[in-house]
Amino acid sequence: MQKCNVCKEQFKWKELLFSIWRSYKPIECSHCGKRHVISFVSKFFVSFLIVIPAVVFGLVIAPEQGLSKPVTFVIIVLMAFVISLFLPLLVKYEYKGG
Ligand SMILES: [Zn+2]
Repeated sequence: MQKCNVCKEQFKWKELLFSIWRSYKPIECSHCGKRHVISFVSKFFVSFLIVIPAVVFGLVIAPEQGLSKPVTFVIIVLMAFVISLFLPLLVKYEYKGG
């Protein structure tokens, strides 16, 4: 999982998760206070991991299973939530200076 690029302090899973939930809010290292922003590739990767399963489920699996729209919606939200719990392990943050 991500460490501070400056002092190597380990970022917390919760800090990374909340950053992602708050549309990639920059993270300040709890030790040295340096601001880290999510990398462009990670941002793309996160959207991909959330959107692709949602689209596949919404357009392929749910109609096949005859699920109603509200049920489909709730399942997609739950899926996105569960996937997001793993994202802190995958994303990269960068110290941009300043
Ligand atoms: Zn630090």
